[in-house]
Amino acid sequence: MAQSQVCVTVRATTTDQLRRRRDAAVEADLVELRVDGVEDLDVSGALKGRSKPAIVTCRTVQDGGSFDGGEEARRRIIAEALKCGAEYVDIEWNGSPDPRITKHRNRIVLSSHDFSGRPSDLADRYFAMRATGVAVVKLAVKAKSLMDLVPLADLGCRARRDGEQAVIIGMGGPGVASRILADRFGACWSYAGDAAPGQVDPDRLIREFRFRELSDSTEVYGVLGKPVIHSLSPAMHNAGFRAISKDAVYLPLEAADVDDFFGFADAFKISGASVTAPFKEEVHSRVRESDPIGKRIGAVNTLQRVQNNWRAMNCDVDGFLEPLLSRFTIDGWRATVVGAGGAAKAASVGLVESGVLTKICARRQDKAEEAARVSGATVGGFPVEPNSWDLLVNATPVGMTPQVNESPLPASSLDGRLVYDLVYNPSRTLLLKEATKRGCRTLGGLEMLVAQAKRQFEWWTGVQAPNSVFETAVKNGLASIAE
Ligand code: NAP
Repeated sequence: MAQSQVCVTVRATTTDQLRRRRDAAVEADLVELRVDGVEDLDVSGALKGRSKPAIVTCRTVQDGGSFDGGEEARRRIIAEALKCGAEYVDIEWNGSPDPRITKHRNRIVLSSHDFSGRPSDLADRYFAMRATGVAVVKLAVKAKSLMDLVPLADLGCRARRDGEQAVIIGMGGPGVASRILADRFGACWSYAGDAAPGQVDPDRLIREFRFRELSDSTEVYGVLGKPVIHSLSPAMHNAGFRAISKDAVYLPLEAADVDDFFGFADAFKISGASVTAPFKEEVHSRVRESDPIGKRIGAVNTLQRVQNNWRAMNCDVDGFLEPLLSRFTIDGWRATVVGAGGAAKAASVGLVESGVLTKICARRQDKAEEAARVSGATVGGFPVEPNSWDLLVNATPVGMTPQVNESPLPASSLDGRLVYDLVYNPSRTLLLKEATKRGCRTLGGLEMLVAQAKRQFEWWTGVQAPNSVFETAVKNGLASIAE
């Protein structure tokens, strides 16, 4: 069980709204009341009737908040919060002990934010802040890489071993692991909400990542990519682990590069990872053991640790074929794959292996030729010629959120039988809508996403992916991204 608590950060523009949001945070162990954006601030009203311990924070614009009322006014707000019995107030560290600390040190969270990166004097800063005798020291620094998190974890764990209360966080995409694995960063609590870059929604933190159940023995998996903050893979794999009661968690791992990932994976004993853009090819070139499909395509989408080595495989081909072949008989069809990247290679290998006459059409001839060489397909003209296909596969990102009003082909050239769009967000792309109007049958990319994720899960766990769990998780994940 996690020792770290969940602190839900709530922001609002009115005191009433702040109180309502505070009371809605029923899963929190404590709440951080961000009063800096409240226009009609009544500190006593914000604290009155609370059922959880509260931290009152009034962060200035300069420190990443929205308070611009001047230092005197800010001091008055903090003093009022202390007078009204707030369990904690947050005071920004300015390099020397603040006179307010002396009297109320056991109710102070002394915080320092660095939005530019990890300062070289991080440990010194921690010790200077700690020497003030405050209850909690909070250090939040922008993480530019996963490896930036390693010294944060060392510092936090040391603090916990010494019986000190600290929260040491990496902000931004690469920092997400420090929020979810807060226990491994020695944090007394993890801030959840949407107040800082990389903060995780409280409901996601508790339900999807099972924050309260994580312990030192929990196995860690993740999706390696850049960016991966909106990846749907954590929703699927975490739901899968929960369904089979596996003590494991799956995180978004936004790495600076492949070295960064492997360094972090060793430091945090990562058991396995999905690999997504832009790292599939480089990861393949770095692992010794890869499956035949990975070798053929020269790209992998899954890693598994075997003692001190990594095994890799590519299940994009099987993931692509499964929804297609389970629904359609494509023997003797002519296929056109639009695009010539990793997904186009996987799709064309699958189609050629299934005996389908396949053409690759891409805006860059050299790339189309390379994809054709890998798969045994031929190169077609670009734009796609009329009456040249039965199955059209979109393996470009065209039509993906936020460019939802774009399509890789004009509606007038949708003259075949089936259109398979590998884009999965949105689940119904403009291409698919237009294809339906033109009388084609359609297949979206969500099913491929689910199919390849299930294969990864089975490879890692040796257990069949539980029925409908991945499908439900991905649909819910997509709906919450849309919100
Ligand atoms: P990639 O390696 O970057 O390849 C993208 C391809 O699309 C390249 O050939 C690129 O051409 C071409 N392209 C990009 N913009 C274009 C445009 N405006 N017009 C024409 N061609 C364009 O990406 P990928 O990994 O193959 O992924 C491609 C798509 O498939 C993405 O949307 C991804 O989300 C989706 N996908 C889905 C799944 C799934 O499970 N459903 C799995 C993998 C990928 P240039 O080289 O000239 O830029």
